[in-house]
Amino acid sequence: MNPRPLEFLPSLARLATVAVFCALCAATNGAENLPREGMALRLSADQGVEIRDGRVVGRRDRSATHHIAEVPAGFAGPSVDATQSALHFTHKTLPSINLQVLPADAREITILGVGQVDEIETDVCVVGAGSAGIGAAVAAARRGARVVLIEREARLGGTGTNAYVANWEPGPGCSLAEEIYLRMKADGGAGVATGYPVQTKAPMGYILVTDGFPYEATLRRAGIPGSEYRRVPYKPEAFDRVVRDMLDETGKVTLLDRTTFFQAETNPEKTRVESVLAEASGGRLIRIRAKVFIDSTGCVWLCRALGCEVMLGVDPRSRFDEPSAPEQGSLQLNAISRCYLIRPNKTREHEPAPEADVRFPKCAFVTGWKDGLQAVNPMPMLPGRALIDHGYDECLRCSEQMARAHWHWLQQIPEFQGYELAEIAPMLGIRESYRVVTRYVLNENDLLAGLPGQKHDDIIAVADHPCDIHGAGGQLSEVKTAYGIPYRCLLPAGSWSNLLVACRGAGFSKIAASSCRLQRTMLQIGHAAGIAAAMASQRNVPVDRIEVRALVEDLDARSRYPY
Ligand SMILES: Cc1cc2nc3c(=O)[nH]c(=O)nc-3n(C[C@H](O)[C@H](O)[C@H](O)COP(=O)(O)OP(=O)(O)OC[C@H]3O[C@@H](n4cnc5c(N)ncnc54)[C@H](O)[C@@H]3O)c2cc1C
Repeated sequence: MNPRPLEFLPSLARLATVAVFCALCAATNGAENLPREGMALRLSADQGVEIRDGRVVGRRDRSATHHIAEVPAGFAGPSVDATQSALHFTHKTLPSINLQVLPADAREITILGVGQVDEIETDVCVVGAGSAGIGAAVAAARRGARVVLIEREARLGGTGTNAYVANWEPGPGCSLAEEIYLRMKADGGAGVATGYPVQTKAPMGYILVTDGFPYEATLRRAGIPGSEYRRVPYKPEAFDRVVRDMLDETGKVTLLDRTTFFQAETNPEKTRVESVLAEASGGRLIRIRAKVFIDSTGCVWLCRALGCEVMLGVDPRSRFDEPSAPEQGSLQLNAISRCYLIRPNKTREHEPAPEADVRFPKCAFVTGWKDGLQAVNPMPMLPGRALIDHGYDECLRCSEQMARAHWHWLQQIPEFQGYELAEIAPMLGIRESYRVVTRYVLNENDLLAGLPGQKHDDIIAVADHPCDIHGAGGQLSEVKTAYGIPYRCLLPAGSWSNLLVACRGAGFSKIAASSCRLQRTMLQIGHAAGIAAAMASQRNVPVDRIEVRALVEDLDARSRYPY
């Protein structure tokens, strides 16, 4: 690393031109862009931002009524100089600024940092270490690429491990998934589960890890009866441990956990991502320069920072000519859930009802391990739009009350008596947010055609999960056979030469995403993105000029599906 003090401070001239982070944010009140989502921001140049004595100083527009507020504990608050109408802040205070208090027309949103920036240079930079990001980092490193993997949370695994959705649904998975499974199983952290009936009228799925089923039995869903579905529950900490070992064994990965990506820098033509900036938990700023970047943040923060075209909500029929799409689009999103863990408790006492009158849907999907620990997924809890309308932190707060109320209800059911609430997931279970417009967008027509009917010659992953739209006017509609995901779904539209998107926000229509967002599918697309990134960086070619046939043959995704 090569620290260069104050280098990070942008010039005023650049202020006007640097990443206009999102008009979308302004349109949606910007409330989603809270610190947890990895952003900080600045006022625009015409609001009079300047750098003085190594500090960033933003002069407040005298006519505006807004102010900077909401400084969480641990941050030094910005000082407001009333006489000069100026705001003084350091980079430490920036992540605490809530966009909602900015003027409605604020469009210049980017990052300022003050002080030292560490520099790292690498071949491949993967942002986000959920299922897809892990697939990408392991695959690229195993192909010899130097990799930097940036993850906001302390634990690797994303939604699977931090939102407590630690369960692979039946369906195809790549060799990486099997390897992770075998390592977790050897560690006592995973098994194969089958369903059990529960004595209740409420809609409920209940699966328990059971001896006697092979992993192969979990690799298919389409065309088999529900009684034969086999799933893979795993312990979040086992996943984290195993994946860290796998990354470590490559000797090629620099893992930056508890580190949040917040800004991207490009060449002037905006065809190449030069570097990304991230902030580590202690406030250290890091710039990562790489030959290829992979956005695996789920909510596609990197692509949005770059101004890539995105989709949100229901696609109108005119967009992809999907038979089930409505004529009109809308901003309906798949519901958000807050999962929680319960564990055996011999007292069999009921926990008290929450004081507030909280409404929640009376249904659940419960996953049980052999030691008695169970993960409860309360299914649709908050409307997906709440994330956009009210922001991450507010959703986290509301859903905590709902999770407690849900547990109070669940423990009345005989199967759950003798349990206590162990922990509410630290992360929201977000099924859907922004999706990137890519060179090809997977859509319902692909799902209906299936592998036999699809004409793509760049299929890098296969899936067979039903279209599964929770609480957003949708229903569960089975797909009849496995379908393929083309490599072009990972290439953002436009002329980016070194950018891939591999996560649930990749190039999928809403309907297609409702089927292919599963963790093992994300591992597959991450796996493919990692190999593609290694190929591009080693041969010094743009990501859309790699030898796609070699990638496809290497992955052999079609043959993975056990017919
Ligand atoms: C309630 C619920 C139930 C589900 N049930 C199942 C199921 O039973 N089986 C199944 O297979 N799938 C299930 N899914 C779907 C599946 O879990 C997700 O679609 C999948 O995990 C998404 O993987 P990903 O890698 O795309 O994103 P994520 O797992 O969300 O990973 C994104 C990662 O990026 C990190 N990140 C984000 N922003 C930044 C930043 N600025 N800087 C650094 N890091 C950042 C995040 O911390 C996270 O680790 C469920 C989803 C939900 C919400």
